[in-house]
Amino acid sequence: MTEQEMALDAGVYAKRNIEIVNGKGCCLWDTDGKIYIDMGASYGVCNVGHCNPEVIEAVKRQAENLFYIASTYPNPVRNELLEKLISISPSGMARVFLCNSGTESVEAALKFAVHFTKRKGIVAAMRGFHGRTLGALATTWNKKYREDFEDLLMPVQFVKYNDPEKIKDAITNDTAAVILEPVQGEGGVNIPDEDYFKTVRDVCTDTGALLIVDEVQTGLGRTGRMFCIERYNVTPDILCIGKSLGGGFPIAATVLHEHLGAMRKGIHGSTFGGNPLACAAACAAIDHIIKKDLPGHAESLGNYFLSKLKDLSSLKIREVRGLGLMLAVELKTKNTPYLNKLLKKGIAPLPAGTTYIRFLPPLVVEKDDINTTIGALEEAFNELEV
Ligand SMILES: *Cc1c(COP(=O)(O)O)cnc(C)c1O
Repeated sequence: MTEQEMALDAGVYAKRNIEIVNGKGCCLWDTDGKIYIDMGASYGVCNVGHCNPEVIEAVKRQAENLFYIASTYPNPVRNELLEKLISISPSGMARVFLCNSGTESVEAALKFAVHFTKRKGIVAAMRGFHGRTLGALATTWNKKYREDFEDLLMPVQFVKYNDPEKIKDAITNDTAAVILEPVQGEGGVNIPDEDYFKTVRDVCTDTGALLIVDEVQTGLGRTGRMFCIERYNVTPDILCIGKSLGGGFPIAATVLHEHLGAMRKGIHGSTFGGNPLACAAACAAIDHIIKKDLPGHAESLGNYFLSKLKDLSSLKIREVRGLGLMLAVELKTKNTPYLNKLLKKGIAPLPAGTTYIRFLPPLVVEKDDINTTIGALEEAFNELEV
């Protein structure tokens, strides 16, 4: 089965050699019934856990009423979601564009910023990741995603992340937007200093550039707040949300500050954006996040996880970093043997680059799952050190 999928798939994914057929909470099962703790295979998508019963119920109910209606017709479920999104976003955020994926949310943000400012300049960060469609790709730093397309990409100025002087120099009166992740995910869980975003916000305000905060990965509780940007006491002009918004169902959003007003009709759109089925899933997922205080849970279990990772003693560890349930162990060596070993032991974390082991578990993860993961890591370090 795995081989057939490898042969028929376009080939863009590095596939693992197990076929996953079921999920529940933090657990995944393969075809042979072997169980895995999902420590990141959800890429931060399944914050409310796999097959969350409330999301399932909402999707079932909506499927019986209406799968699809274009965004040109108002719909009560969509309306409910828009209200919820505004209520959980930083104060001042007032309008929402609904779409289907993180990269689309970034595309919309960039277009809206250029449309609103009538400027062209874009500033982004080294090691940043914002998606892979051509507009978003222009703001994604890693060469491995960009090469072959370099000549087609709009010009973007990249500056060192978490360096206030570098970004101050880069933002000018020609800058339409600055796009940043509040913690860099794909770049290896890079956490900025507390006042970095405050500085960026001030420079943007002074120059009239818009601040796009990409919370596709950090959003909806992941880092111990509903949105990570709350930690820095900064209000974005545009907020990008994706990944876990639909509890696993594809949906994403671009949230706009009230000072931007309404965008001009027709400058953007999406056939499936805001379809009632996705909206129903997202409403249920947001309700669950609030009801279970998943941001609070992520904060406390994240602190526990981080302290346990810091207790690991191995000469192969360069550094351990984390904010909430977004964590990484940076190795002095390649990550592949560790990832393979952990998978054999029933733990499924993620890579980042070639030397990081990254952990982005569903936010419903419990202490036992973390202890099991730490045990497996200890074994893996021992076994691979001899
Ligand atoms: C994953 C990710 C994206 C892209 O989302 P897709 O749904 O894969 O298009 C954009 N920005 C950040 C920060 C991400 O982590």
